[in-house]
Amino acid sequence: MKIKFLGGAQEVGRLAVKIQEGNTKLMVDYGVIPEKPPEYPLPYEKVESIFVTHAHLDHIGGLPMCYQTHRPDLYATTMTANSMRPMLEDSIKIMDIEGYPKRFARDDINTLYEMVITSRYGDSSQVGELTATPYSAGHIPGSTMWKFENNMDFLITGDLYTGDTNLLNGAKPVKAETLIMESTYAGKNHVDRQQVVARFRERVKEIVDNGGKVILPAFAMGRTQELLMILATMDLKVASDGMGNALTNIYLDTPGGFLRSRSELKRAVGRTRQIRNNRMRMNALEEYDAIVTTSGMMDGGPVLRYVQELADDPKSAIFLTGYQVEGTNGRSLMETGVLNIAGAPVRPTMQMDFFDMSAHAGHDDLVSFVKEVDPERIILCHGEQREKLVEDLGEYEVILPMNGQEFEI
Ligand SMILES: [Zn+2]
Ligand SMILES: [Zn+2]
Repeated sequence: MKIKFLGGAQEVGRLAVKIQEGNTKLMVDYGVIPEKPPEYPLPYEKVESIFVTHAHLDHIGGLPMCYQTHRPDLYATTMTANSMRPMLEDSIKIMDIEGYPKRFARDDINTLYEMVITSRYGDSSQVGELTATPYSAGHIPGSTMWKFENNMDFLITGDLYTGDTNLLNGAKPVKAETLIMESTYAGKNHVDRQQVVARFRERVKEIVDNGGKVILPAFAMGRTQELLMILATMDLKVASDGMGNALTNIYLDTPGGFLRSRSELKRAVGRTRQIRNNRMRMNALEEYDAIVTTSGMMDGGPVLRYVQELADDPKSAIFLTGYQVEGTNGRSLMETGVLNIAGAPVRPTMQMDFFDMSAHAGHDDLVSFVKEVDPERIILCHGEQREKLVEDLGEYEVILPMNGQEFEI
């Protein structure tokens, strides 16, 4: 088997893995690093089929570019296929607004969708000499670990979370000889999730009891819905705004067992008001105690409008729950207390807090996962500090590939 990372080997983002086994050539993901402007993987190399692990842009952001010269089959779970379209269309919008080089157009997205073959977890497909089966990766709804088998077998995790949340059950290990695994949190562990959620609930209650509002910047996929499910168990008036609403509706409309409990998500959404236009937005701060809204790193979206309105209210709060990438407004707010709204610096007097609700397995979780998969060799990718895992994986052959380097196993 020959493997070549076109991106995402020694970095978090733009994952693109080309794999050749016998005469079968396939690729897993073709993402971007969502910088300003985005960074793309090495140029697409022709394959017969592309397998998608999940709908985050660092795994799908460049996919339409693979459909400009020919038409590989695209395998994804139904949930991933349904979630991808708003993300890809939004990328085109951002290219236009920001004046970034136009790397693909709406037609390329349409071509891609003509080639989509969807599946549920556990349903196998025959692709050339390989049998491909998707398993839940526990990261966001629809997220997939793909297992490929013929006389040998390998498992590629995509992004992985092994704990249970309100929205999803954690990934269960699948036996494989070769494991290609993400390593975002190599060297770092998370605080226990239940403790984080308990402190989050306490802090939200404290702010609201004291007459303040809580603004919750949240990623559209997964985090928005998880927060709505946590807030639904509290006696609060909750609203949600931005692209998260579109994804919530896609999650509720996609059957196939991709959620831990569709009825519980539905109940949480039933207790939430979806803000759909500026008129509703005007009154939202008077009516609601907590607003869950995009963007998760505060670089755009309705969140900025709410923060601007509440900026001088020390009773209100901004609670961040997701990793804030360097260079984003969210990171700047955490580090300096200042963010940029429409070109002007704003220093809110609102309270600030951070809750680690990461959707990536921590260091020790990755090590336990490997032990249960019990592979002969491990290929680590999607991480900046992969070497930190190596000593805890001493009993296995560990490969740390680099982008652009083809190797054979
Ligand atoms: Zn992801
Ligand atoms: Zn990722």
